[in-house]
Amino acid sequence: MSGRSVVVCGAGGFIGGALVADLCAKGYRVRAVDIKPVNQWYQHFDAAENLQRDLQQKQACEEAVAGMDAVYNLAADMGGMGFIESHKAACMLSVLINTHLLVAARDAGVGRYFFSSSACVYAADKQVSHDVVPLKEEDAYPAMPEDGYGWEKLFSERMCRHFSEDFGLTTRVARFHNVYGPHGTWDGGREKAPAAICRKVIQAKQSGDLCIEIWGDGHQTRSFMYIDDCVLGIQRIMDSEIDTPINLGSSELVTVNQLVSLIEEIAGVTLERSYDLDAPKGVNGRNSDNALIQKHLGWEPSIRLRDGLEKTYAWILEEYNARPRA
Ligand code: NAD
Repeated sequence: MSGRSVVVCGAGGFIGGALVADLCAKGYRVRAVDIKPVNQWYQHFDAAENLQRDLQQKQACEEAVAGMDAVYNLAADMGGMGFIESHKAACMLSVLINTHLLVAARDAGVGRYFFSSSACVYAADKQVSHDVVPLKEEDAYPAMPEDGYGWEKLFSERMCRHFSEDFGLTTRVARFHNVYGPHGTWDGGREKAPAAICRKVIQAKQSGDLCIEIWGDGHQTRSFMYIDDCVLGIQRIMDSEIDTPINLGSSELVTVNQLVSLIEEIAGVTLERSYDLDAPKGVNGRNSDNALIQKHLGWEPSIRLRDGLEKTYAWILEEYNARPRA
């Protein structure tokens, strides 16, 4: 694959940045595109062609895909539950990115197109219990996804499918389940649970106020996929013959309380817990059923949560200590 031209959309973000790093290292010719100025990207590489463009604009999408063999669409206006529950319209506007990118990819004769979907497409009534049955791909229908963000993802998945059927564009869709790792959002309102909890633990430890506030009752169950598994999975799915949306997630299930305990253990601290039952907390339980990815690829994300959290905690600690103090 080395030498092939690929564009990564959303390259200034967490997963996009990690994907660009890996593709550059593998010798691809990479174009990296994001709406943010390049100096605000989590990672950027001189080996890539770095462009600041608003991919909600059709012309920007045409420029992004021109001359490319493959498109990875990881661009979206998104964040953790605190963000998506209060920015539903903004989340849905990401439909413009995928729509214009698909049209531009079709018109430019792009070979393959990857869309980053989410476990938030799954129907709410299948996630009411903490004691989860892992979600299979068909559980997205009958549709009742996460309001706003999830509906956009489900619609965009569907659009990928119909661009394949009607226009012959090869599309690949992965449903990510909670990705975490270094070089991602850990502060500011868009961060997700693992990064937010790392930050809160660091804050408590450094301030000496040994308390932590947890969103929800702490019994919510989730699985978390380390970024290296995500980047590998994206490329394996892209290069596969899997032409329907597929789970890309870890199946190591933990409660939020267990996640906090793991991070406390890494930090060497025990905190007094309080629970904000009114805070956004998402569904009660969710896990990834990995039978389909195992069947197709003989592989599934397997980096242990404890191992990934150690690296994530160390990176957030470094960032925390390096940030300017008020
Ligand atoms: P991120 O917010 O770190 O990255 C998304 C990037 O898209 C950002 O850098 C943002 O500036 C860029 N972007 C937003 N609007 C844009 C526009 N109009 N034009 C160009 N760039 C634009 O998020 P991430 O965690 O890296 O997520 C990447 C993709 O994976 C997203 O589609 C997201 O919905 C999906 N996803 C992520 C997770 C997760 O746990 N991180 C879970 C499920 C799905």
